[in-house]
Amino acid sequence: PEPTRRASRNNGRHVRMAQVPYAGAARRSSCPALAAPPPTHASSRAFSPNDEEDRISEDDEEYENSRGGVPSAEDDELDKEKAAEQQPVLWPERNDEEFERGRALLKTLLCDALSFDADDMAHLVLEIFDQCGVPENMGITTSKLQRFIIGVRDRMLDNPYHNWTHIFDVTQTTYCLACKCGLMDRLSSMQRFALITSALCHDLEHPGVNNLFLIRSRSSLVALYNDTSILEKHHSFRAFELMLNSNIDLLSGFSPDEYAEFRAMVMSIILATDMARHGEYMAKLNAYTDPAIAEEDRRIGGQHVDLTFGMEIMIKCADTSNVLKPFNVAKKWAVRVTDEFFLQGDLERANGMEITPTCNRQIQERVSLQKGFYDFVIGPYYSKVAALLPELASLLDSIKVNREMWNSYDDKMLMDELGSSYLARLPGIGIDGPMKLSVATWNVAAVNNNPFEYWVTHQSGEYAKLMNDVQRFVDNPGGRDFVVSDVLTDEMFAELKHDMSKHGFPGLDELERRWVEDFRNRFAISGFLKDKAIGSKRLVSMPDRITNTINSDGRIIYRPSVISGFEGEMGQIPVWWQKWREYTFKTDVHTLDRLSPGAYKIQAVCKMIEPIRHAKYPAITMEEEAISIPLQVLALAIFDCVLVRMLQIIAPRTWQPLKHSLCDAFNRNKSQQVINILAKSYDDADIIFIQEAAASFVDHAKQGLGSKYMVLRPYVLDGYRNQNSMILARKDKFLEGSRADLTEQVGRLAGGRWTAPGDLCAIAIKGVDGSRYLLASFHGDTNGLATIPVLKALNEAFTKSYPDHIVIFGLDANTHKQNSANCQGIADFQQKFSEMGFASCWGPSPGVQTWTTRNARTYLQPQLQKAVGISDAARKGEVNLKDWIIFYDNQMKAVESARDNTGNREFAESMVFPTLKFPSDHAIVSCQLQRNEEQHNQKP
Ligand SMILES: [Zn+2]
Repeated sequence: PEPTRRASRNNGRHVRMAQVPYAGAARRSSCPALAAPPPTHASSRAFSPNDEEDRISEDDEEYENSRGGVPSAEDDELDKEKAAEQQPVLWPERNDEEFERGRALLKTLLCDALSFDADDMAHLVLEIFDQCGVPENMGITTSKLQRFIIGVRDRMLDNPYHNWTHIFDVTQTTYCLACKCGLMDRLSSMQRFALITSALCHDLEHPGVNNLFLIRSRSSLVALYNDTSILEKHHSFRAFELMLNSNIDLLSGFSPDEYAEFRAMVMSIILATDMARHGEYMAKLNAYTDPAIAEEDRRIGGQHVDLTFGMEIMIKCADTSNVLKPFNVAKKWAVRVTDEFFLQGDLERANGMEITPTCNRQIQERVSLQKGFYDFVIGPYYSKVAALLPELASLLDSIKVNREMWNSYDDKMLMDELGSSYLARLPGIGIDGPMKLSVATWNVAAVNNNPFEYWVTHQSGEYAKLMNDVQRFVDNPGGRDFVVSDVLTDEMFAELKHDMSKHGFPGLDELERRWVEDFRNRFAISGFLKDKAIGSKRLVSMPDRITNTINSDGRIIYRPSVISGFEGEMGQIPVWWQKWREYTFKTDVHTLDRLSPGAYKIQAVCKMIEPIRHAKYPAITMEEEAISIPLQVLALAIFDCVLVRMLQIIAPRTWQPLKHSLCDAFNRNKSQQVINILAKSYDDADIIFIQEAAASFVDHAKQGLGSKYMVLRPYVLDGYRNQNSMILARKDKFLEGSRADLTEQVGRLAGGRWTAPGDLCAIAIKGVDGSRYLLASFHGDTNGLATIPVLKALNEAFTKSYPDHIVIFGLDANTHKQNSANCQGIADFQQKFSEMGFASCWGPSPGVQTWTTRNARTYLQPQLQKAVGISDAARKGEVNLKDWIIFYDNQMKAVESARDNTGNREFAESMVFPTLKFPSDHAIVSCQLQRNEEQHNQKP
């Protein structure tokens, strides 16, 4: 049977990562002395078996006092506990008047979702959960529900129809109908919870196009979800991902059986909303309402009709309930849904696809679409529903009334009455004079896993000293070098071998032979760290990449290593070793199995390591390939062990606090810092292109900047690599609900291999003045080889399909000084884009002084050949012009182009970055774009 999350938790072998937010919290909750003062830095070391440690701990106190704000490991654990407890619920203030107005309508069909704002609706959803008894009966706290509701809201895209308002509408209507027909009274608490949760998630991350479009446009979702009910599977996959996300952890109180029951219900309720399955439901309704069946059995919960079917019917009713709302409400939804259809049709037309007839704004009438829907779908459906649930028979009357009303309407009347202006909700549309746009682009990535990877401009002198000493030690270890088996002892090797044999790894005797004859006798620095063969065989860099930082169950876990975000105490080898073994061999990683939404793939960390093939890396011999997994585990263990020892020798007191300061800046507080910089220094920007952002950045951006900006993102986001491109578009310059996602189409034009999910975000959107834009944000491969293909694709999309659009492209082009077959040069890039008619913010010939990255790798990393000494960091490091804003020469011109590597709209020329205050290794690039006069005057 499929392992579920809960089942795995109750298996004693697992480290129960999923249950407790942080290791510290576990200690805390099981510790009776909760009120006792936190253990001090020194006391936690009192039992240190390591002499060297004991000696240095004497002056720890002095150090504690002198170290200023740099947190110790212990402080950090406590901070994290606090953070977990007090994690801010970004729950909006309640407008009591609106809330009361809504609450009075929750059990009625008179509740007009479109009359509430996004915050009101969040409060009303919580009220529904409350009225269903979820907090008290399910043991789910209100703050968890609040995070969950906000999580759903943040994940809804800005479509004309399938957006947060539709979600609220369906949730409220499901609740109302289930109460009306008496179903709610027959449901258990668990079933009520499942029903409301399903309604809330039933369109999660809806892309604004239908399943057929995804199939015809060969969306990557199609392959993932196997051609049927693609969207509905996607919605439920994302729903579970969200509920299990560590910040929400909605279902943590469930037993394995409860979890399985809940999951099955939610999936089947969400999948019921696929209209392709409508015939199936009609057939069942026919069978269940067959007069041959005794009347008392013709009821939900009776002999033939189970409660799950009842819930499926409820959500299907709610999802099509626009037609039975008061006509003035039904009308508004009719415009919205056809707006969304027509946007899909526009996409189909632009891409040379067959245009779905109902989506073709050139031939399809909105009103006749409504009439057809009533006559062929809704009428027959509700009459069957009424036969099964007589309490709902009155709905048929509302449907009839509305159907009659449509007879007296045509499209002109409808649009005269409602127009499309609801999209804008803006006063005073129209802008005088030549259109100006303030634009910025920023690759927000820096450190991926290893906080020490790049030289950092750090305010503490201790950092420079540490890194300098590391460099000197590695460059010239001399008499301080030590033998591998002095730190990774034979006993430790035996434990390693034992752990590996328990996991069934092959070739352990051969591995032991190599240990005895080779590895154990090497000098740690000169013979191991600096061995080029280990580098070219990838024996350390490969397993490091896989095991360094793992997103398990929405929770990030780190290998106990100098070069990871691990923040536990690592000062003594035996303590570190215990943690390392625990992580590598006894920690099960939970990753959601995309093919089976809601199900987990569970495996030990060591099982994630993949063989290194001779065919791909010729340095590996065939014999080594045969034992390449245990060989990688051993090499990684030696590497991590050697680094811990080396840092203990060099800087026993400072290296861990310094590491924590880096992790804080580049990891824990990264998204917030990025948002703060944008909010403070770029608050006049109309468009901000972002690259290499974590998927969770979307949430941060919506919370921090959402009142001013739409967060435009591709509908397929990469939550795993966490390198996503997105676009922030100012709400008073661009029309909400007018965006269409072109990411997949442009990606395909580029030749699929050039873009991985998340690299590209291409969006068509309307300006409030009626002009149309094609905006793209892109982050290329390391050598920049993808940049030209993607630019060509954008050019082709414009020429063929969007010739009336203004194109603006913000990108990390990964361009380098020199051009070669393997590497995209700046001059060549410049020439190629000019040939296509593009110009850049850097003018016709950017000088060599115009660079946007200046960084250098340190000696604390697996690929030592890339390291640059500190004295050379500013000079010999990678200094490149990588970041560009590109547009058509005949559409726009750029003025006031600027770079910023401080976050204050200032640029420090000789500084390597990131810094603790500027968490990216790319400068922010900004400029003012002015629409060319002639172009402006040619407006249709
Ligand atoms: Zn829906």
